[in-house]
Amino acid sequence: MATKKKKKSTAGENEIITLTNVCKAYSTGAPALKDVNLRINRGEFVFIVGDSGSGKSTLIKLLLRELTITSGYINVMEYDLSKIKHRKIPKFRRNLGVVFQDFRLLKDRNVYENVAFAQRVIQKSNKEIKRNVPSILAVVGLAGKYKAKPRQLSGGEQQRVALARALVNQPTVLLADEPTGNLDPTNSWEIMKLLEQINQNGTTVIVVTHNREIVNAMRKRVVTLKKGVIISDEEEGGYIDED
Ligand code: ADP
Ligand code: MG
Repeated sequence: MATKKKKKSTAGENEIITLTNVCKAYSTGAPALKDVNLRINRGEFVFIVGDSGSGKSTLIKLLLRELTITSGYINVMEYDLSKIKHRKIPKFRRNLGVVFQDFRLLKDRNVYENVAFAQRVIQKSNKEIKRNVPSILAVVGLAGKYKAKPRQLSGGEQQRVALARALVNQPTVLLADEPTGNLDPTNSWEIMKLLEQINQNGTTVIVVTHNREIVNAMRKRVVTLKKGVIISDEEEGGYIDED
């Protein structure tokens, strides 16, 4: 039975991510996130910045429902993530694309197969796969490299494969945790421009980054975490210089 409620003209109907008083504590150490309140609307582009250990990856893992919150409320794409049933998690994740710093490609598969894999998981037909994979590879500028194995590609190219894999199922939300962390400045800019283009086509994009030059230049919403607390949240913000 489908139990997903259709919200109609309620306040915040455009909201796609809601965190209210979210705390996340691991079994050891101080809480990784403390009383986090965050609202993100459909179609936004948001940078998450902050020092190492400030809770950025924890936040991304909560949004993916890879981790559960310790207290508070979290809703992503109309799923209440503290109540979601385990059997519903795969369906929830179908609408999320994820990209990591270390690419996480299948090393023994070529570019085409790495991207096709994401479609096979959700049981797309071969006919659809043959149509969708080349078209998304063209979007990330890798149409000519579909036969290459990851080790034959540069870091920037590997991240573009990972991006294609994240996008091929047309996610509603794209989460990227330090996607340019292993890239040189030129490739970092190319990846960020692709993320911006994806956002302009309607996908909600959330990017964790340390790249202050890019954050300052792109004039997007910037949420800054410090020791598990949101210390600033600014439209067209910049990287906060501290100390
Ligand atoms: P960031 O991504 O901003 O560097 P993290 O979210 O990875 O920060 O970590 C936030 C805090 O939570 C850090 O103090 C880190 O040591 C701690 N932490 C992260 N993962 C775990 C874990 N699996 N077990 C215990 N503590 C963790
Ligand atoms: Mg991290």
